[in-house]
Amino acid sequence: MNATWIISICAICLGGLFALYVYAWSIPTLQWFAPAILRGPADGNRIALTFDDGPCPGNLERILDILRQYDVKATFFVCGQNVERSPAILRRVQAEGHTIGNHSFSHLFPFFRSRSFFAREIDLTQEAIERVTGRRPRFFRPPYGARWLGLQPVLSARRLSLVNWSDTGYDWKLGAEGIVRETLKALGPGSIILLHDGRSVNPSERVDRSPTVKALPAILEGAAKAGFTFVTLDELLS
Ligand SMILES: [Zn+2]
Repeated sequence: MNATWIISICAICLGGLFALYVYAWSIPTLQWFAPAILRGPADGNRIALTFDDGPCPGNLERILDILRQYDVKATFFVCGQNVERSPAILRRVQAEGHTIGNHSFSHLFPFFRSRSFFAREIDLTQEAIERVTGRRPRFFRPPYGARWLGLQPVLSARRLSLVNWSDTGYDWKLGAEGIVRETLKALGPGSIILLHDGRSVNPSERVDRSPTVKALPAILEGAAKAGFTFVTLDELLS
């Protein structure tokens, strides 16, 4: 085997390792590089519903109406840009006793970003939420649940906890029946469920979360029947 072959094989191996490294940061449940809370304590049968990517008028009112009807409190991870666009609906979220979390300002992938990028995305959103609600969130969820070097120190300096999820209804790709099935499939004490009320910070993109809205009553009823009580992340992780 000549030197060119050896160099080529080494380059392929290194490229593969680097691709694996980047991929690892995209796994929401991975604990190797930075801690992520995936579920709450197992004592009691408490679980938490979380909705990402809003506040998204239209979808969000429908979700809030259903939660009110079932007397259930949830947590909403909102994007700063959407908060600036739709502050009134966020006031309703707060007034109805739900918890509000930070889901970045622009909802961009975190790969190869700098520490100052993370700080700006997080601070702009904390400020936008505080301007509307008077309070700064204590929970952060990164877009896509993905992380990168430099994010954790920014969160630690702000005493923000990174919360991903243990369960999801895959509501970005499934219809209502599938969302209910997947959400309820593996629920356990302390489960944190990911669903969405929005999708993007792009105002020209139409966001229809009808499948999620349609699935919600069956999720609430199915979990209650299995003996679970819904609480906010504030309560679950206090
Ligand atoms: Zn998101």
